[in-house]
Amino acid sequence: MPSKPGEFGQQRAGGLIHTTITVRGAVQGVGFRPFVYKLATSLGLSGFVRNQGGLVYIEVTGSREKVDEFVSEIRSNPPSLARIDGMEVQYTAVAIPGTSSEEGGELFKTSSPGTALGRFVVVESTDEKASAYQEPFGGPGVPPDSAICSKCQKELSDPRDRRYFYPFINCTECGPRFTIVESAPYDRERTTMKVFPMCHRCRDEYTNPLDRRFHAEPNACPDCGPQVVFEPSEITESPVLGPDEYRADDDWLQKARRVLSHGGVLAVKGIGGFHLACDATNPDAVALLRARKRRPAKPFAIMVKDIDTVRRWFYVSPLEEEILTSRAAPIVILRARENCPVAKNVAPGLMHVGVMLPHSPLHLLLFLSGDGEARELTPEAQPELHEPVPEALVMTSGNRSGEPLVFRNEEARSSLGPLVDGFLMHNREIARPCDDSVVRVVGEKVLFYRRSRGWVPETLEVAGICASGDGEMPRVFAAGAEGKNVFAFLSRGKVLLSQHVGDLYSEEGISRYKFLVRDLASLYKFEPDIIAVDSHPGYEVSKAARELFPDKPVVEVQHHHAHMASVMAEHGLKGRCVGIILDGTGYGADGRVWGGEVLAGDYRCFERLYHLA
Ligand SMILES: [Zn+2]
Ligand SMILES: [Zn+2]
Repeated sequence: MPSKPGEFGQQRAGGLIHTTITVRGAVQGVGFRPFVYKLATSLGLSGFVRNQGGLVYIEVTGSREKVDEFVSEIRSNPPSLARIDGMEVQYTAVAIPGTSSEEGGELFKTSSPGTALGRFVVVESTDEKASAYQEPFGGPGVPPDSAICSKCQKELSDPRDRRYFYPFINCTECGPRFTIVESAPYDRERTTMKVFPMCHRCRDEYTNPLDRRFHAEPNACPDCGPQVVFEPSEITESPVLGPDEYRADDDWLQKARRVLSHGGVLAVKGIGGFHLACDATNPDAVALLRARKRRPAKPFAIMVKDIDTVRRWFYVSPLEEEILTSRAAPIVILRARENCPVAKNVAPGLMHVGVMLPHSPLHLLLFLSGDGEARELTPEAQPELHEPVPEALVMTSGNRSGEPLVFRNEEARSSLGPLVDGFLMHNREIARPCDDSVVRVVGEKVLFYRRSRGWVPETLEVAGICASGDGEMPRVFAAGAEGKNVFAFLSRGKVLLSQHVGDLYSEEGISRYKFLVRDLASLYKFEPDIIAVDSHPGYEVSKAARELFPDKPVVEVQHHHAHMASVMAEHGLKGRCVGIILDGTGYGADGRVWGGEVLAGDYRCFERLYHLA
């Protein structure tokens, strides 16, 4: 019989208490079970932990004191990628070793097979895990990609580590997630890592609950995992280096650095797609990239070696530092200091530059001194490097002007080939593209310019704000606009916002859009009841949305009202609001072009109070 905490401890001092705990939130695919295992083992508790639906379910037996410590540790020090939304703790029975009390007998019947006093186990329950995905957003979902953690950074630069300079190092706290998952639930066999059978050392880590790579789905090492190669582009008209100008015995990293130090352009296959990179402190290199990409003036984002360099070159607040070094590792818009050596043509006429830190091990290696040859290094015996190590690189999305982000090797060779001197190519497939996120800090607020890598596919709770959340309301596919498109799925009081899709003014843009909608719908088994589209009759994106889900009722939404409603939902506003929407033109409710609107209304309807254009 369930009872309040405290009762048993008082009545039977020295006895054992049995406790069931369920934990809700982002608790799967984040190293939660190993964390629970380690904690329980260190406290001498017996029992088990398993994933159950979208939850983590735990049963433990031990002294009252230890169980309390266990519960409070879970609450206060969960793994860094986990987020606990709620925890139910029930003290259900008392068992005293050596006695056969009724409660004790019951207790061990309900426990998982193999569990006995003094032992704690991690129970696999793949069936339950799979069934959690039958409902859209019912399961734990797929975690976002996470920037390389400090432990992996340390191993990456340690010449004695077996993953020294290995560009695919990761653990349960970091690495690709969303961009390698092919289908849910998130397990190695359903990721693009399935083609790399783990060697016995990686397998040992993966299956050992005490290892920090326990069930790290992309786990790999130089012996068994993906590999990087340098490929010179064969279709650049005038490459900065001829075929004989590379040293034959240089590895991929030295060749890549050689391109960069000679002012060339390099395509780098990142986490969610290709980047185009060049030396950000070399104006000629930046000019070459601009000419080849046919992008005369729009600012480029840069990747800076480390946070110390960012501090020296930019004004950066503690909050901005926190975001730069967070697991999402987005581009943060920063104001350059007067002595900032970044070339002026990176962001022509602007004092602000979009800055990010190296978020994947491959990016980080471009900036690390060392040559990747494993050996004991002393301060006197540092490796001799042929090529200088860059301090800052332009790191802009790998696409041709007006076309979508490139994320597949073949497409990169043909489409980016004319723009670059060489490629850092690898054989870990990207399941779906996901562009870098861009944020700006204003005062103490973080504003999203682009919410993508590192945040997607986290859902936003809107139950009780603009959705009833009772499971009865329709599932909505919101198609989004034509410029800087993002689409959304609404189900069970939660909104899933897609990654940044980009501009849909071209045929390629629309076909990428369709690919991404189908992809997310299949990943989440999402089937809408209703489609919401912009009321503009000429939008190609709305046509595409209707084609994707034919025969579904379509609701047309006025452009500026949609902006107002999404800001209201983001800030949890209910009831009637006044919105000032200054995003430019949109199709008005009267069939004319609107822009600069002052609207009053709620989620359902609005009236146009004033307009500035
Ligand atoms: Zn890590
Ligand atoms: Zn391995």
